[in-house]
Amino acid sequence: MSKCTMAARVGDVLIGDGGHIVVQTMCDTHTSDVEATVAQCVRLAEAGAEIIRVTVPGMDDVESVRRIKEALRAKGINTPLVADIHFSSNTAFAVAPIVEKVRVNPGNFHKDHSEAIRRFRELIRICADNGTAIRVGVNHGSLGDYITNLYGDTPEAMAKAAMEWVGICAEEDFHDVVVSLKSSNTRVMVDAYRCFNSEMTAAGTVFPLHLGVTEAGNGDSGRIKSCVGISTLLSEGIGDTIRVSLTEDPEAELPVARYLAARYERRIVSSMTSVSIQGRKAFATYHSPSFETLLMDVSCDFGKRLLDKELDDLELSGEYMDEAGNPVSIEASGKGAYLVDELMQAARRRFYRPEYISCPGCGRTMYDLKAALAEVKAKTSHMKDVVIAVMGCVVNGPGEMADADWGYVGEGNGKVSIYKGRTPLMRHVPENEAVDRLLELIEGDGSI
Ligand code: SF4
Repeated sequence: MSKCTMAARVGDVLIGDGGHIVVQTMCDTHTSDVEATVAQCVRLAEAGAEIIRVTVPGMDDVESVRRIKEALRAKGINTPLVADIHFSSNTAFAVAPIVEKVRVNPGNFHKDHSEAIRRFRELIRICADNGTAIRVGVNHGSLGDYITNLYGDTPEAMAKAAMEWVGICAEEDFHDVVVSLKSSNTRVMVDAYRCFNSEMTAAGTVFPLHLGVTEAGNGDSGRIKSCVGISTLLSEGIGDTIRVSLTEDPEAELPVARYLAARYERRIVSSMTSVSIQGRKAFATYHSPSFETLLMDVSCDFGKRLLDKELDDLELSGEYMDEAGNPVSIEASGKGAYLVDELMQAARRRFYRPEYISCPGCGRTMYDLKAALAEVKAKTSHMKDVVIAVMGCVVNGPGEMADADWGYVGEGNGKVSIYKGRTPLMRHVPENEAVDRLLELIEGDGSI
């Protein structure tokens, strides 16, 4: 069957059909704080964001989105805006005429699947009338019962769910569609996109894909996890737009996303100077201009091969330049062994510390997420074989933390809920006690 590769127009930006890899990010300001959101959008656009998403928790925020867009256009900033919708189809209908793209998981529109489909068709009609694109965002951990009952909570289920939604778009002759199938688990994420890409190819119509490792966390581990998942797919020609999700200021996501786009558009090359393979172990030498470049190069050079079990181990040597411009030995500094440990964990081959899942935060975030993640990490780093999620809001956090063993979820008003798997064990815990309560629960559980 011949293949038709689609492109989606999002304002002035074209996503897909062999175009450049579009870099995007998301505000973490409250959308109702128009001034702060406009200021952050300006900084993000200046830092290279080609598309910016803002959360729209409810109808009250729709007018704020209009004011944000007007203020940006008045400043000469034409970066397309995406409205992030969870659950409320009415909010999606109201904001769709204002923004350039709406991000929805249509399965969340209603518990009754046929009603969810009806509302999605309605959204398509509104978007078609207003020249607004749609991102269908199917996340691991938030699939509807109708699909998990058939396929489990699996990459295949994510792909099947997405196929149904793009099929409805095709039936409605609506083609400004981008699809994401995110997971914080790089194995699940890569498998879901590969499966969906194959299914679209077999069906004959390939819609553009938005890549991301969701809830990747922060720091080196968040960057490595994002690079492993995204680079694996980009190296196979899968993916048209990317977001690196970090539990940091959104500005910090953009250098990593720009690196990935540049690398897979072949505008930059790795700083690896030599590599040899002995058995199933690679020995690689680098001369990197910075530690961050080394980290991203190593993740892209070896992430896919470790994830796909083409290699079992890695040893790094050479040097990188520190911030003062002095060379640092990769072996003698211990950074080589550290990066290999982190890469093994990101590729889900060897777990040497807890696995942390944490959302990037957005306008729904109910507390100081970055400080909470830092404290949880500091107090649990000695543990092994445990997955801990730190999430910004009770509305979406529990659903988005997927396969976490434990969840630490902000409620707002200085309170936190603590989950074991999907079950809330404690609610309304004061923030200043919550990490200690979490520790007591994990240590008392006897499963670590
Ligand atoms: S879980 Fe985090 S990123 Fe997701 S909606 Fe809540 S605060 Fe925003």
